[in-house]
Amino acid sequence: MFRLNLAGVRDQPGKPVIFNFREQLAPVEGPDEIVAFIGPVEAEVNVTYMEGQYWFNGSVRGRVELMCARCLEPFEYPFQVTLAEKYGRGWCQDDAETAPMEGEPVDITDTVVQNIIVSLPMKALCHSECRGLCRAGRC
Ligand SMILES: [Zn+2]
Repeated sequence: MFRLNLAGVRDQPGKPVIFNFREQLAPVEGPDEIVAFIGPVEAEVNVTYMEGQYWFNGSVRGRVELMCARCLEPFEYPFQVTLAEKYGRGWCQDDAETAPMEGEPVDITDTVVQNIIVSLPMKALCHSECRGLCRAGRC
């Protein structure tokens, strides 16, 4: 889980605070299939508190297992995505006047996973020259 404690960020307005993560994530639902992560997902996220909002900037990388659209073999697909999110007081459920997330670690796992999923190719190929189901002997 990608969880950040933002108390220290809010104490230093305008100053980015860096969070580093290395997490093993559960398989997620991708564009065509369930996508499993190979090894941990690494993320570096900068969070800056400015004018009542938290600005998240970061990069996330790791590897997933995809199935080749041509030969139907599973293969490793490395991904790298950037995060650029902004959160304001809307995050606080109970009282809009209270500064959000006080003392509470914030879980951005869903945001990270969504960014990874949209970066995955719809028709993934194990290799740009993949010739498909050659084992049938017709190519
Ligand atoms: Zn292939």
